Amino acid sequence: MNKFSWYEAKSVEDALEQVNSTVSEELYQATDKAAVFKSGGIDVFDWVKEGLLKPQKIVNIRNIPDLDKISYDPKKGMSIGSNVTLAEIASNPETKNHYWALHQAVNHAATPQLRNMSTLGGNIAQRNRCWYFRSADHDCFRKGGARCFARQSETGENENHAIIDNGSCVSVHASSIATALMAFNASVVIINGKGEKKEVTMDDFFVTAGKDIAMENILQAKEIITEIILPAPTKNTKSAYIKQVARESYDWSLGDVAVVFEVSGNTCRSASIVLGAAAPVPYRSMEAQQAIENKTINSENAFAAAEAAMKIARPLAKNGYKVPLFIATLKQAILEIS
Ligand SMILES: Cc1cc2nc3c(=O)[nH]c(=O)nc-3n(C[C@H](O)[C@H](O)[C@H](O)COP(=O)(O)OP(=O)(O)OC[C@H]3O[C@@H](n4cnc5c(N)ncnc54)[C@H](O)[C@@H]3O)c2cc1C
Repeated sequence: MNKFSWYEAKSVEDALEQVNSTVSEELYQATDKAAVFKSGGIDVFDWVKEGLLKPQKIVNIRNIPDLDKISYDPKKGMSIGSNVTLAEIASNPETKNHYWALHQAVNHAATPQLRNMSTLGGNIAQRNRCWYFRSADHDCFRKGGARCFARQSETGENENHAIIDNGSCVSVHASSIATALMAFNASVVIINGKGEKKEVTMDDFFVTAGKDIAMENILQAKEIITEIILPAPTKNTKSAYIKQVARESYDWSLGDVAVVFEVSGNTCRSASIVLGAAAPVPYRSMEAQQAIENKTINSENAFAAAEAAMKIARPLAKNGYKVPLFIATLKQAILEIS
């Protein structure tokens, strides 16, 4: 581990000023950047300990006042400060009452200890967990190298990797909570070094590997997430979330799905369906959405929607099991809504 200085940020502006003073124009995701924000620290310190990130300065944003608030308004929806921990979201009654799929996603992420430390801002900004990307010995595509080690047909260990949009990097996004947030059409509030605020949808927050291999989200060095906003649900909004794992405790997702429907009776009027651990970013399945909209929610239609979601899947040598896994999981999630 390299030596670094520690700065305790007192406000968002103060934190951004620290980065302004040490970083020129490096991208947020660059691994040799001079200063880095730390919130819960779970992901950042993994990088530093592995020698993949050698920051000169760590800017602790965890104790900035007002970023740890969570509130719900029946008209405006829910606002979750970027420093709210996963444990706080899990125990929040409004999340359970109005955003069931998010409640489920948070409760099935990581472990109780990790949920006590991890913040929502850090969770959606964390990097992928591809073992080659996380290895200092493998100079992969994402780190500016010439090849994808996971893709290699004979030697590549790609059982946890992407089956959709896997033409360049085949990693999957690590946040299973983002799956549910995207299904609820959540948006991310970001402040930049000039004090300008912008709000982007989760769909626009993530960057596909095909668009920019170095980025997993749009954040730049001089930008901080302050809040995640979920629109207010209607009385006809119903949701479900299911995550499949190899081990029941503390495991990353092999495949997770979040489904948010507007229903009338047992008919789906509009559908928002997102797959996690299927692609390098959380993947909204337009195919599944179209297949189930204006249909009765029953076994046959749920299966048809789940099959539609997998039409574009292109599994790698060792992850073909993900196709039936997603079909069964999505069908089950849709039926949980009926
Ligand atoms: C064994 C294990 C299992 C896990 N399982 C799951 C799982 O099943 N599902 C899941 O979703 N997650 C899982 N996680 C992830 C974990 O829960 C954390 O959410 C995640 O590691 C990062 O959260 P953090 O607050 O510690 O972020 P940090 O490590 O502090 O930060 C992560 C990144 O975000 C940046 N950052 C942090 N806050 C902000 C902000 N406000 N604005 C801009 N940038 C910011 C940091 O600079 C850093 O680049 C798991 C982690 C482990 C170790």
